[in-house]
Amino acid sequence: MVLCRCGVEASFSISWTDKNPGRKFRGCTNYKDPSRYCKFFMWLDPPLPSEDYKNLMYQMHFALVGMADGNAQLEQVNVDQNRRLMLMMKLMFIMVMLFAVMLVTGTVLLVKL
Ligand SMILES: [Zn+2]
Repeated sequence: MVLCRCGVEASFSISWTDKNPGRKFRGCTNYKDPSRYCKFFMWLDPPLPSEDYKNLMYQMHFALVGMADGNAQLEQVNVDQNRRLMLMMKLMFIMVMLFAVMLVTGTVLLVKL
C-alpha cells in the first residue's frame, strides 16, 4: 500500500499518453481538487526504453481500443439486420396467409357458382 502526502492510499492507474504509454503509476486521489492535491506521483515501472517502443505501445493501444469499438458497432448492425429480417419474414407470412385465405374463399365461391 502506497500512501500519498494526504495520508490516503494513492490510486493505481495506467498512463496512455504518447509520452508514457502503458506505464503504471500511483498518484494522489485528490488530483481533481487543486486545494487538496498534494502532487504525489510515482511511476511503478522503469522508463520506457526507446521512442520507437513508445510509439508502438501508443499505436497498439489505440488500435486495440479502436477495434473493440468497431466490433461493438458491427454487432449492433447485425442485430439491426436480424430484426429487419424477422420483420420481413413476418410480413411474408402474413402475405402468404392472406393469399391462402383468398384462394380458399375464391375456390369456395367458384364451387358455389
Ligand atoms: Zn494526496
